[in-house]
Amino acid sequence: MRHLVFKGPGELEWQETADPRLSGPRDALVRPIAVARCDLDPAIALGLYPMKPSFAMGHEMVGEIVELGDEVSGFDIGQRVIVPFQASCGECAPCLRGHSNACSAVASGTAFGLGPHGGLDLGGALADLVRVPFADHMLLALPDALDAIVAAGISDNVSDGYRCVAEPLRAIPGAPVLVVGGLAPSVGLYAVSCGIALGSERVVYVDYDHDRLQLATALGAHVIEAPLDRLVDALGDERFPITVDACVLDPGRDLALFATAPCGTCTSVSGGVSPRSALPLQSMYLKGIRYEVSRVHARATAPAVLDLVASGRLNPGAIITKVVSFDDAPEAMVEPAVKIVFVP
Ligand SMILES: [Zn+2]
Ligand SMILES: [Zn+2]
Repeated sequence: MRHLVFKGPGELEWQETADPRLSGPRDALVRPIAVARCDLDPAIALGLYPMKPSFAMGHEMVGEIVELGDEVSGFDIGQRVIVPFQASCGECAPCLRGHSNACSAVASGTAFGLGPHGGLDLGGALADLVRVPFADHMLLALPDALDAIVAAGISDNVSDGYRCVAEPLRAIPGAPVLVVGGLAPSVGLYAVSCGIALGSERVVYVDYDHDRLQLATALGAHVIEAPLDRLVDALGDERFPITVDACVLDPGRDLALFATAPCGTCTSVSGGVSPRSALPLQSMYLKGIRYEVSRVHARATAPAVLDLVASGRLNPGAIITKVVSFDDAPEAMVEPAVKIVFVP
């Protein structure tokens, strides 16, 4: 089969490799039919994120089941499924707590399309075939009515946007939400969509990029444009019980933390661009805010997101800017677009 290999900064190449095979009774083989570009993918491909080549890319996938291990029940050959990007067994203590990104059955960080980034390299979704471990737990059936292209991002970025607002909005129903957009472009806009879908009375979106601001407006957000170096002055006196930092850069995180109301929750969807960052811990302490910085627990979060999409209340397709064939993935992977979906 062929798969798309990251060989080094700016170097992506389709290469031939051996077909994956079932390695245990809980495995499945899946043929990817729609693979969304994760917000992290362009940074990896351009060498802006410290990951060692070479490895196969692509990790937000909907696929079609090709083969099932003996212990995988409830699924059929040919069925379309969402494959959450992080491997999780569904049986260990972290998995049972909903911490599927901390599954203790696999090395930390084990995921598709991210190489041996702290874990085991499962191969990428930009491929003819993928082996899915723990398939009886991992796979989510895609309802017939849902477009695979629209659903592909549920395996990562849509769920990431959802978790930023879902839990805080459960605690304070209807609360206003602030999203600071930037280098996690689709996650920020999915947080906007999810905030609105889950009943926030007012979602404010701050960004320095015109195209993302237009998309946020179309989604129903109140938008504020501000240059990156002036982000922290963008809001005046307004404070929010729920804030989301999808900017990745320091000014965006600073704004999100500054704008979080006393006893509010601020979620960062990235660890920023340097190994150590300065946080305003004294003001955070005095306000008593909860600061969440983590990767999404994709398998644990995706079912609720899929329900929201299937109910028609959330449309991840609204921010998909381009659908591109697998053949054109090497170029499209580094294009400045909000959300690209690759199809074979
Ligand atoms: Zn990702
Ligand atoms: Zn587990």
